[in-house]
Amino acid sequence: MNKIALVTGGTRGIGASISKKLSSNGIKVIANFTSDENSADKFSTVNNIDVVKFDVSSFDECKENVEIIKKKYGSIGILINNAGITRDAAIHKMNVSQWQEVINVNLNSAFNLVSNVIESMRENGFGRIIHISSVNGQKGQFGQTNYAASKAAIFGFSKSLALEVASKGITSNVVAPGYINTEMVAAIREDILKSIIDTIPGKRLGNPDEIADIVYFLTLKNSGYINGATFSINGGLRMD
Ligand code: NDP
Repeated sequence: MNKIALVTGGTRGIGASISKKLSSNGIKVIANFTSDENSADKFSTVNNIDVVKFDVSSFDECKENVEIIKKKYGSIGILINNAGITRDAAIHKMNVSQWQEVINVNLNSAFNLVSNVIESMRENGFGRIIHISSVNGQKGQFGQTNYAASKAAIFGFSKSLALEVASKGITSNVVAPGYINTEMVAAIREDILKSIIDTIPGKRLGNPDEIADIVYFLTLKNSGYINGATFSINGGLRMD
């Protein structure tokens, strides 16, 4: 089993919790970030986890950095597609860059990374690919046609991928968080956030560690029979 993991957006928020959980369980983690050098440096020093800067929305940067990681550490056996952004606006006010940025970072990144790691996983007969989607990709959200479309598309991507690679010892699964206490949620206006929390049966935000635990579980060898699945972690906000 190959214990080298790339966690995209792995130095802040949910990604940071995932990086720490995997690392503390003996997995060699490389945590990616794109702009926030200060947070990444601090995260790396405090947690003794290597970080790598590149933009997941760029196919060329993903290709180049997957190669660099392979040469330095060995091939990636665990890929956590976690990096994501919001650019909220109602559709009549949304401009084309708000649409494209979100699709590029949240959806195109899945192709950019999976297509570059999959060959090594196939050769090794092992791989764990976990995509972080969102409850809003399942139910929709006002002001998030771009974000919800990108996150909903991840379900189709993951299931199709699972069909293609299951026979090679590779799994592809989705974790769909509800509202989790990170900077992304802190950016929501206070009164709107309060009204959202009122609709959550659990009456609280989730904790990033509650996402990291299920992601770690999905990386295990014994999770090899879980494939093409979705894990909704949302305090009961949306029940399947
Ligand atoms: P944060 O905003 O706290 O962190 C986002 C991370 O993604 C940062 O590390 C950031 O890097 C990285 N990132 C953003 N764009 C890029 C890019 N182009 N290339 C590489 N890295 C990038 O987000 P959360 O931790 O809250 O969210 C993590 C994931 O979980 C996202 O996919 C989000 O959509 C999803 N999610 C979050 C929910 C929540 O309530 N928080 C709910 C449902 C889903 P940098 O530090 O350099 O800025």
